[in-house]
Amino acid sequence: MTERESDGTTPGLNADEPEALEPRVAQTVARMKDALSEGNGSEAVRFFRDAVSNKLIVEDEELLNWLRRSMGKVATEKFLTVFSRLPCFYCNRGVLRCEECDGRGHDEDGTLCSECLSLGIDRCGFCGGSGWFTINHVPRALQLQVILRRVLAAGKDADAVLADAVPVVSATQYDDAKKEAARALLQVNRLLGVLENMAEAARREETERAESAATAQKVVAACLALAQKLEERACELLTVLADASSREAASIEGEDKSRLAQRRAKFFSHLASSKSFAGTLLRHPLLIPESSVEPDSAEESKVSNAEEERPEATAPEQS
Ligand SMILES: [Zn+2]
Ligand SMILES: [Zn+2]
Repeated sequence: MTERESDGTTPGLNADEPEALEPRVAQTVARMKDALSEGNGSEAVRFFRDAVSNKLIVEDEELLNWLRRSMGKVATEKFLTVFSRLPCFYCNRGVLRCEECDGRGHDEDGTLCSECLSLGIDRCGFCGGSGWFTINHVPRALQLQVILRRVLAAGKDADAVLADAVPVVSATQYDDAKKEAARALLQVNRLLGVLENMAEAARREETERAESAATAQKVVAACLALAQKLEERACELLTVLADASSREAASIEGEDKSRLAQRRAKFFSHLASSKSFAGTLLRHPLLIPESSVEPDSAEESKVSNAEEERPEATAPEQS
């Protein structure tokens, strides 16, 4: 018999009354509390998961209330915060080396890699570039609380990112601005990944749980509003990248490098003005619907690269 079956239905039990626990369950709860108070959140999660697989703790809709009763509100808050910060086990803060171009940013023939914007770094497909543990693996009853915490954290990070000045490209110093803009763009994109995942999870919450619907709606609205600001910043940073690439094209030694820089300038500038991000790591269709300006800029850029690549094309098309 599980703990919930033995105690969960006790009449008159309210959230402020500590739950009377079976010894093995009490031991697990005590271990979780200790781990949390020592700041060892992943250990607390491990104890929790073990207890769930041993059927000592029931992972059902009542879980949040049960945790509050048996572990106390303070420890439960900590536990929720730990869950909200569990990293994706697949990537490093949402990014990986781009597999499309093997991290080079372009093909053998110099065609730019649209997926990674020729940066050589792609977003993680597992966590959507958010860097966080997927919400689907968070116990259902804790999801809304985890969503709220992640959106709050993303909001704080976004405030910091948006407070930073957009890098300035000067005639002689384009390289630092380019690096800085690329770094900031990836940061913005990670936050968009968080917001996209959380908006999606909140929409599901809204349809599946009537009691959470009002909160979930507010979360979705907050995600969309913040995404708009971040998208604007992404476009500003793309413009910086375009300017820096133009400068680079004009000053760099070597025809091939100069031509690559020219293509980048054109590609970034097109992305910034069209806001059409399909086929790139900047796409977030569940958060920001695809711009109706142009059907697919990424494909277009690929084509223009190819055309530019073979101006006096004598080689037959290979495909
Ligand atoms: Zn790539
Ligand atoms: Zn990931």
